[in-house]
Amino acid sequence: MADPNGWAYEHLVVWCAAGSPRPKRDEILHHRNGDKTDNRIANLELMKRRAHNAHHLAEDGRRCRVTGRLLPRRLLDGREHNDISEARAND
Ligand SMILES: [Zn+2]
Repeated sequence: MADPNGWAYEHLVVWCAAGSPRPKRDEILHHRNGDKTDNRIANLELMKRRAHNAHHLAEDGRRCRVTGRLLPRRLLDGREHNDISEARAND
């Protein structure tokens, strides 16, 4: 599991130690809560790379650019971010 320098990703080690098969080339271990330092097994999810990319593209619009944390869905005026993207789609 280690690279040529002897380093291994902690989330990969946790995942495989739990008895789960190692992710294939087109798969990726996703951190459910967005915190990449939270490598508890419950926070890890196996995803296809395609689905994973789409997931993060959809999500990035509501992430803080500094901390990377998710911003609340609800805006100050009470609308949801979803409402806005839907409104734009109808333009
Ligand atoms: Zn992810």
